[in-house]
Amino acid sequence: AAPAEDASVLAGLPSGNLNEAESKAIFARFGVPVTREHAAPDAAGAEAVARTLGGEVVLKILSRAIAHKSDLGGVKVGLTAEEIPAACATMLERLRAAGAPAPEGFLVQERVRGGVEMILGFHRDPQLGPVILLGSGGVAAELFQDTALRLLPIARADAEAMVGELKAAALLRGYRGAAPADIPALVDAVMAFAAMAGAAGERLLEAEINPIFVLPEGQGARAVDGLVVLR
Ligand code: ADP
Ligand code: MG
Repeated sequence: AAPAEDASVLAGLPSGNLNEAESKAIFARFGVPVTREHAAPDAAGAEAVARTLGGEVVLKILSRAIAHKSDLGGVKVGLTAEEIPAACATMLERLRAAGAPAPEGFLVQERVRGGVEMILGFHRDPQLGPVILLGSGGVAAELFQDTALRLLPIARADAEAMVGELKAAALLRGYRGAAPADIPALVDAVMAFAAMAGAAGERLLEAEINPIFVLPEGQGARAVDGLVVLR
């Protein structure tokens, strides 16, 4: 299907933070590759989703009120379907103990393995205007400031230059014999994310993918997290 070209992707969505599933659904409409996933209202539904996806999955709390899920024990990587109900109960208990509001439910998604973790972000700078950010994700992001910024709109050559100016470029190209990552797929994802930000209109305040996994050459990229903030 052709990507949506107008702000109707935001129609009906509330202001404030959207949850991960809502955020990634917007990204996916513009061609950002996201994990295969389904939301479920309860533990039984989450277990059923895990069986449908097959293999090891990732279980997450689904809540507009929680922007940093792992801080509250809301992310479990590498579960079998049998392990889902107990993990759901533990997550709900943690939320209750923290005094968090009741979540919308759970999100069950494919587990992504390998690749280089990157961050893609969008915000409105009060002086400059709409800005897109590409940076190192995961542990690398905490160790060294490694980000490239551009004002929107951008051309493909700009997205390529953003990748090139990161320290992470060495990792992506295959540092010390590691498999080179799918840099064209990362550039595609930057362009799709930029198109989303350009098309969403003034209601879009912030958007973030932290992280997107850039898989080995020929295997694409996959956004595993997503956050959209609307006005
Ligand atoms: P948070 O809201 O805490 O940022 P994330 O959804 O980003 O939660 O998950 C936390 C971390 O768990 C990610 O940075 C990533 O390393 C790992 N992770 C999350 N989802 C997946 C997945 N589908 N496959 C593999 N690892 C994942
Ligand atoms: Mg995250």
